[in-house]
Amino acid sequence: MSDCIFCKIAAGELPSEMVYQDERVVAFKDIRPVAPVHILIIPRKHIPDLTAITEEDAELIGHLHLVAVKVAREQGLADRGFRLVNNCKQEGGQVIYHLHYHLLGGRQMRNLC
Ligand code: 5GP
Ligand code: ZN
Repeated sequence: MSDCIFCKIAAGELPSEMVYQDERVVAFKDIRPVAPVHILIIPRKHIPDLTAITEEDAELIGHLHLVAVKVAREQGLADRGFRLVNNCKQEGGQVIYHLHYHLLGGRQMRNLC
C-alpha cells in the first residue's frame, strides 16, 4: 500500500531502527517506547489488521511468531519473559493499519489494559 508508513519502513523508504529482517518479516524499534524493549514485528505484506488474515497467511503468521521469539531471545528476554501484543481495530487501540505485534519487555508487566 503506497501510503502506509509501515510498508514504507519495511521497504526502507522511511528510516527505522531495524533489528531483524528477512524476505517476509521485519522488526524495528517503536518510535515511542513504553518499555525498555519495545519492538514492532510486522509482515512485509500489507495486511490491515488481524481480522484480515486468511488461511493463506497461516504460515506467515507462524513465521512471524518464530521471529518474535528469536528477537526476544536476542534482546535477552527469553528467560525473563515478555509480552507480545496485537491491537486490533478501534476498540483494540490500533492506530496504524498495517498488522503489527508489539514485543514489550525489560520491566514487569502488570495490567492488561
Ligand atoms: P498501534 O496503536 O497501532 O498498535 O501501534 C502503533 C505503534 O507504532 C505505536 O506504538 C507508535 O509509537 C508506533 N509508530 C508510529 N509511527 C511510527 C514510525 O514512524 N516509526 C516507528 N518506529 N514507530 C512508529
Ligand atoms: Zn502497509
